Amino acid sequence: MPQRKPLIAGNWKMFKTGPEANATARHLAKLVGDDATVDIMIAPPFTALSAVSGVIEDTPIALGAQNLYWEAEGAFTGEISPGMLKAAGCTYALIGHSERRQYFGESDDGVHRKTQAALESAIIPVVCIGETESEREAGETFSVLDKQIRLGLEGVSLRGPRDLVVAYEPVWAIGTGKTATKDQAQEAHAFIREKLAKVLSSDLALGIRILYGGSVKPDNVKELMAMPDIDGALVGGASLKPEIFAEIIHFGA
Ligand code: PEP
Repeated sequence: MPQRKPLIAGNWKMFKTGPEANATARHLAKLVGDDATVDIMIAPPFTALSAVSGVIEDTPIALGAQNLYWEAEGAFTGEISPGMLKAAGCTYALIGHSERRQYFGESDDGVHRKTQAALESAIIPVVCIGETESEREAGETFSVLDKQIRLGLEGVSLRGPRDLVVAYEPVWAIGTGKTATKDQAQEAHAFIREKLAKVLSSDLALGIRILYGGSVKPDNVKELMAMPDIDGALVGGASLKPEIFAEIIHFGA
């Protein structure tokens, strides 16, 4: 059984200016110290990447972006390439977040292109998938996940399991205060791992980290992290406050 080091990732969404992000990252870095028991990532808005990268340089906190475009450069006004993110100090990039799928027309085909482009620039894609409330109520959870995995990930070239992270984020649990129960989350994660084995390979699937996202808080992270196929958390609202995010990071203490 391969070791899957937990990853606790913070998605700051469209919050924080450069100076605000700098102060938050500084505070978080102090609270985290040199504790490297889990991998940690924060994803500020593009305009705050440079304000945060210097602050976390010699800490266990890695930098992530919230999106990217698949071309290397060109006439694509408003877009940012994987190479630009790499040069800005990013290790990770969120891809296919449900807010992007919902408000900005992100498709599974776009997720596939972005994932492949990130991998080619040695950025670790954190590919977000998950069903809406009406899809869950209609009993479509697993067919939705199956489609998002097949169309988003089939054929992408990984050198090893640490090249890719998948985040299961039931849309009905994002920013709503409703968390999937640990059993609902485990069931979805086990299904995702089984599909990754089919679409990629069994060896890769055993080592790929699958994060749970959706109203993760200090008081529910521990029971979620105790489930066998939950390898970390993607945290939105609760990652904006350093004290609260640090409590989540230290779930095992
Ligand atoms: C997210 O933005 O990915 C997320 C999970 O948000 P929240 O933790 O606020 O539900």
